[in-house]
Amino acid sequence: MALPTPRILLGPGPSSVTPRVLEALGRAPIGYLDPELFTLLEDIRTNLRTLYGTQNDFTFPLTGTGMAGMEACLVNLIEAGDRVVIGVNGFFGLRLVEISRRLGAEVTVINGEWGRILEPEMFSEVLSKLGQVKLVACVHAETSTGVATPLAGIAEVAHTHGAVFLADMVTSLGGIPVDVDSSGVDAAYSGTQKCVGAPPGLSPLTISERAWEVANNRKSPVANWYLDWKLLRAYYDAPHAYHHTVPVNMLFALQEALQEVMEEGLEARYARHREVSAYLMEGLAELGIRPFAQEGYRLPQLNSIHIPESVTDEVAVRKRLLEQYGLEIGGGLGDLKGKIWRIGTMGASATHRNVTLLLAALKEIL
Ligand SMILES: *Cc1c(COP(=O)(O)O)cnc(C)c1O
Repeated sequence: MALPTPRILLGPGPSSVTPRVLEALGRAPIGYLDPELFTLLEDIRTNLRTLYGTQNDFTFPLTGTGMAGMEACLVNLIEAGDRVVIGVNGFFGLRLVEISRRLGAEVTVINGEWGRILEPEMFSEVLSKLGQVKLVACVHAETSTGVATPLAGIAEVAHTHGAVFLADMVTSLGGIPVDVDSSGVDAAYSGTQKCVGAPPGLSPLTISERAWEVANNRKSPVANWYLDWKLLRAYYDAPHAYHHTVPVNMLFALQEALQEVMEEGLEARYARHREVSAYLMEGLAELGIRPFAQEGYRLPQLNSIHIPESVTDEVAVRKRLLEQYGLEIGGGLGDLKGKIWRIGTMGASATHRNVTLLLAALKEIL
C-alpha cells in the first residue's frame, strides 16, 4: 500500500517539518552508547535550555510524545494521598486531573472557563483553604481553546503555599516565550511536533532542583519504571547507563530542528508566529469569521475561531479542505466540538504562503 498523501498541516499539531529536518531523520542510526550520540545530546540539551529560558541542569528529550512528558512529571512528583491542585480551562487540563487521580492523588480542580485564562486569585483562594499541597499544575498554552495563561502569578501562589509548580508547555515551546526560570516554573514538559519543528516522538522536559528534590524525597518508588527520572538521568548524565534504546533518528531530527530555531533566533521566531497569525486573523475577519479566545491572551500559533453560522456541516468543510486542497485544520475538542475551528500556525507551518492558500480555499468553499 502506498504511503499517505503529503499535507499542509494547519491543525493543532503535528506541524510541517523542513526538508533539512527530514533529511536528518533519514540518516543511518548509531548506537545508544556511541560517544558521538552523547556529544549530540549535550548540544540538544543546551539548546533546549535556551528555548525553555532555564538553567535547569536536568533538561532532556524524553522518549515519547507530549503525553509521556505529562505522565512522567506527574508520576515522579505525586505519591498516593498527596494533595494536588489543578487549574482546568480546557481539554488538556482535564488530562492532568485524570492522570493525577489515577496516581491516587487527592485532586482539587479549579474550573476556569474554556477560552479564558486562569487567574492567580483563583489559585490563592483555593490554596489558602487547603492544608499542605504537594503540587500545583496547569496548561500554559491550551491547544483546545487557543489561550495562553500567564504563569508567574500562579507560580508565586504555589510557592507561597510550599507547593511545586508544573506547567504544560507542549504548544507554547518554540512559539511564544516560556521563560521557565523567571516565571518560577519548577517542572515543564513539551512535545517536538508543535512549535519546535520536528516530527512527533520526543517530549523535552525541564526539571528544577526543587522538583528534583521532591521526586528524590519520595517514600514510595516511582510506579512507572520507564518514566522514572532517576533512572533516566543516569543515562542522559554520567555514567550514561543503559536504560532504553533512545530513538536516535528522532534525536537527529530534533537536533536539526533546534539548530534551525537558533539560526532563526528566538525573537524572530516569536515575531514570525505573531505576524503570520495577524495576517490569518485579518483575512478571516474579511470572511466574517470571529476569534474565539479571550482578547489579549490569544496564541499566535493556535488560532481558535467561531465556525461561521452559514456552515451547516463543519466536518464536510474540513473534509473538503483536506481532500481538495491538502490542507488540515482542526475541529473543536470536548464541549467545543462543532463550535470552533482551530487553525495551527506552528513552527515551519507558520508561513504567509500557507495562510494565503488556506484563506483562498476557505473563501471558495464558503
Ligand atoms: C498536544 C498536546 C498534548 C499532548 O501531546 P501529544 O504529543 O499528543 O502526546 C498535551 N498538552 C497540550 C497542551 C497539547 O497541545
